[in-house]
Amino acid sequence: MPLSWFEIVLFLVLMTSSAWMFWSRFGPVVRTIRAAKPDADFVLDPIGPRVRAFVQEVLLQAVVIRERPLPGIAHAFVFWGFCAFVLVTIAHCAQGVGLELLPRGNVAVETYRMLVALFAVAVAVSIAGLFIRRFLVRPKWLGEKVSKESGVIALLIFVLMVTYLASYAFDEATMAGRLNWWAHTLALAIFLPLIPHTKHLHLVLSPAAVFFKRDGFSKIPPLVGDEDFGLDTGKDVTRIVALQAYSCVECGRCTEHCPAHNTGKVLNPKEIVLGVRRYLSEFGTGASEPLLSKHLSDEAAFQCTTCGACESQCPVGIQHLPIIIGLRRGAVNTGKWEDDHGTKLFLNLERSGNPMGFSTAERQKFIEKNELPLYDGTQNYCLWLGCMGAYDPQGREIILALARVLRRLGVTFGVLRKERCTGDSARRLGNDLLFQQLAEVNLEQLRQSKVGRMLSICPHCVRTIREDWKESGASFEVEHHSVFLARMASRLPSAPANGRIVFHDPCYLGRYQGVYDEPRLVTARGGEVLDPPRARSRSRCCGAGGGLAFLGEEKGKRVNVDRAEELVATGAQVIAAACPFCHTMFRDALAQVTQTPPKLLDIAQIAAAGIQE
Ligand code: SF4
Ligand code: SF4
Repeated sequence: MPLSWFEIVLFLVLMTSSAWMFWSRFGPVVRTIRAAKPDADFVLDPIGPRVRAFVQEVLLQAVVIRERPLPGIAHAFVFWGFCAFVLVTIAHCAQGVGLELLPRGNVAVETYRMLVALFAVAVAVSIAGLFIRRFLVRPKWLGEKVSKESGVIALLIFVLMVTYLASYAFDEATMAGRLNWWAHTLALAIFLPLIPHTKHLHLVLSPAAVFFKRDGFSKIPPLVGDEDFGLDTGKDVTRIVALQAYSCVECGRCTEHCPAHNTGKVLNPKEIVLGVRRYLSEFGTGASEPLLSKHLSDEAAFQCTTCGACESQCPVGIQHLPIIIGLRRGAVNTGKWEDDHGTKLFLNLERSGNPMGFSTAERQKFIEKNELPLYDGTQNYCLWLGCMGAYDPQGREIILALARVLRRLGVTFGVLRKERCTGDSARRLGNDLLFQQLAEVNLEQLRQSKVGRMLSICPHCVRTIREDWKESGASFEVEHHSVFLARMASRLPSAPANGRIVFHDPCYLGRYQGVYDEPRLVTARGGEVLDPPRARSRSRCCGAGGGLAFLGEEKGKRVNVDRAEELVATGAQVIAAACPFCHTMFRDALAQVTQTPPKLLDIAQIAAAGIQE
């Protein structure tokens, strides 16, 4: 389509202005991310999982579709349509300066253009659907405020698609065809600068955010040197955190699944990410202004149960937990966090080696009374009691049930003479010094006792020993009892039928370790296994994680009550848990939820039920 000189000049002015406006916002964002502190532990290798995540999460839009199928597919079509349109758009811009990159009549070009036309129809329908959802249906997760920019963007995308399709109906040599071409150009020129000025910045940044995210779920980065206290000021914000903050698409999936937010707490994981973004936009990465001030609050940071639902739901790979725990570290390691329960917890851990502050003699009495053998280096397993297994009455019952199973199976085991808390709650509340002290004392004990394999009833202990202790140079083989019991299931005597059993997936077993089938297999020995509405990777937290079991009364509705109501509503006769923290949280909640509570059992108790003493 030959353009006049006037049209070419007009086109160049329009598109240059558009590109300049794009860069006037995008340039500072790139500079802010680049100026941030490098992530000390970041390594690109192994590259395979990064490429796989990129293909699945970006190209195939797997997380978007999996978590919200209908809007997810609509969103995926918009994304795929954008990819299909890249060449068409380049050719359109070339036309604007008199070059014909995709000459009409060529078979390959016509086939490609036809394919793009199909995508144009799909994108137009999808964007109209997403517009209706955002502006008429308005799910609360998208936020209270109606984003006018989103409406304008949706309209522009719709215009781009319709004008492309209209190019089939109008010959470009006619006035109608020319007007259509200019309408397409104008929509493009307005659309481009809107991308970095709105949440649509994710179109450019989220592929990088997915590719460069930290390896591993909820990975807490190591502190580097004596001056690193976590996320205290803008100087501590790393490149990955900055990139993720600017990549948020504001979809609210994290908020929708957050147990704290859904029970009336201040915490909103989306606002945590956007708070970091707002901080960076106002103060920049080199600022000394505390992060926990204008845009982020310590109240919100310390309401997080570290359940990981937010991180597992995010379609653009944002990792909330390193940010939230980083903020806690910044507050605790610099002495800014003031909380009576927190102070008591840290003192208990320091002095008694357990969060409840029990004397270690209590643990010794429990071991002796129940004739638990001491680990001497010859047994198959070192049975890690953990604080709940050593001091909590229900936790002790779980340990004794597991010991019965081990004896029945002829698997030898022993417990440590001395054991301190793994440091899980100290670690996740941001007290790095205390966590290190606890880890080192335990490591010394384990090395002295020549421990090989460990077995634990607590997913929090397993996670902390397996992942967090690595920083102190530890590498122990530690297995959760659900995995062990599932492996041994065929050798266990059948348990008496309990009717219907609803299984609650503990966050630190499911989302953190990907263990879903094993505890169900063990549970099935006692009856018919039911899933509550929110199960497996969507499981709702019991409220105990992240040290919150020890931080006193919650604001709003209690998370354990919220989850217990859901479990009770299934009508099951038994609630099965596989974590002593979940167990104790439900025990407290059930009394409030119903006068005829279902039985509460750990999977070890289900496995042991058929054993005659
Ligand atoms: S980890 Fe759980 S509690 Fe914490 S912000 Fe995420 S969803 Fe909410
Ligand atoms: S952090 Fe992720 S899940 Fe949450 S609103 Fe942003 S993009 Fe959506």
